[in-house]
Amino acid sequence: MKILRLLAVGLVIGVVGYWLLGPGPSARLGAAEPAKIGSATSSTRAALDAPPPPAATPAPTPVPIQTTPTPPAPDAGGAAPAPANAAGALLLPVQGIGAEQLQDTFTDARSEGRVHDAIDILAPNGTPVLAVADGTVEKLFDSVRGGLTVYQFEPSGRYCYYYAHLDRYADGLAEKKTIKRGEVIGYVGSTGNASPDAPHLHFEIHVLGPEKQWWKGESINPYPVLKGQQAL
Ligand SMILES: [Zn+2]
Repeated sequence: MKILRLLAVGLVIGVVGYWLLGPGPSARLGAAEPAKIGSATSSTRAALDAPPPPAATPAPTPVPIQTTPTPPAPDAGGAAPAPANAAGALLLPVQGIGAEQLQDTFTDARSEGRVHDAIDILAPNGTPVLAVADGTVEKLFDSVRGGLTVYQFEPSGRYCYYYAHLDRYADGLAEKKTIKRGEVIGYVGSTGNASPDAPHLHFEIHVLGPEKQWWKGESINPYPVLKGQQAL
């Protein structure tokens, strides 16, 4: 009988053991499945979340559009200073005078209702007057108002530079003579209607007409040009 009880206990242990071991693996599989489902859903969520970023990237597409206009801006900005440095920079026409000493007298009133249309650069009598740019001497003229004057054409023929009240011309200066930027063309004085107490160079820039006549031209303000603030 003891053997039968032992067998019965053994069977019970066996069945219980089998039952315990059985659900174990199935429980593991059940646990593993949710894990897979969870990871799958999280990955699908990630995949769903991923599309928004692509959707967000189309949003930045305006940015490329913004960057597209930006290139033209540097181009325009780069184009502007280039000519300013290349052709627009005129030399200060009075030796020893710096740009900071210039005064804008372009719109000053003059006698008989005239407007100055020029810049006056005060300097001691005899101070060398320098060509502001390369060009040719178009006309040497002694006028009542301007005294001894020089009309210089620049190579393109667009502009005329006018120097007045000279005390005298530089030696060898003559009409049709080619002159270089910085070349001495005369000396500061007070000829014409300038006061002997205030010798100065009266300087003008004329925009020439199609006829290229030295006595005809529209005056533009030399001040910002000589200051380097404006290109011709
Ligand atoms: Zn003047």
